[in-house]
Amino acid sequence: MDNKQPEKIEDKLFKLKYKTDTVCHLLPESSKCLQCIDKTCTIICPANVYNYNEAEKKLTVSYEKCLECGACRLICKNIKWSYPKSGKGVHFKKG
Ligand code: SF4
Ligand code: SF4
Repeated sequence: MDNKQPEKIEDKLFKLKYKTDTVCHLLPESSKCLQCIDKTCTIICPANVYNYNEAEKKLTVSYEKCLECGACRLICKNIKWSYPKSGKGVHFKKG
């Protein structure tokens, strides 16, 4: 039997390469975020792209870490979502 522990998501994310676009490809409308009660984007994103600062009442979007999985666009219609420009964004390696 194989007793190897599954690799942690943080370790997997560490292996990815990114070419950061100069333009953010994830654009939530901030006035609607203020009214949003559960801030689901901060929970669902596997790359921890969205963080809400309660004291400043501000959502930060670290788009350079995005995996382009599309989960946030499914759970929130307030996010204007697009892919980064061609050649930019996350680069997955095989194996
Ligand atoms: S992006 Fe969507 S889920 Fe996230 S805080 Fe704004 S409205 Fe809420
Ligand atoms: S597309 Fe996926 S990785 Fe990118 S911000 Fe949305 S949930 Fe996070």
